[in-house]
Amino acid sequence: MADKVHKTDDEWRQQLTPEQFRITRQKGTEPAFTGKYNSSKEPGVYRCVCCGNVLFDSEAKFDSGTGWPSFYEPAAAESVSTETDRSLFMTRTEVMCSKCDAHLGHVFDDGPDPTGLRYCINSASLEKTGK
Ligand code: FE
Repeated sequence: MADKVHKTDDEWRQQLTPEQFRITRQKGTEPAFTGKYNSSKEPGVYRCVCCGNVLFDSEAKFDSGTGWPSFYEPAAAESVSTETDRSLFMTRTEVMCSKCDAHLGHVFDDGPDPTGLRYCINSASLEKTGK
């Protein structure tokens, strides 16, 4: 595993837009159907907007109809980490960047084949680049 990235909130604020900071560093959520990658089908890799870690591949992206970019698997098992989230009177599984602990979104077990998983991710936590 690559070295962890640690920065202070002030350092993250300097690097990120207010929306990116709110979502990635304060576990926020962008409104459905507003994110720039929601309906994107362009090939590429989705990196962490905070640290550049490769998180998801466009080949695993599918149209979930939820209003957030959705993937059936991460780029690699070690790309993301997960944690139980009991906020908002629900029990969900939070998905984070394994390198800098950025909040990305949540993973649900109602996704398509081949994994049956649905990684529901905020566009604001992602930066897409070519492969
Ligand atoms: Fe990161």
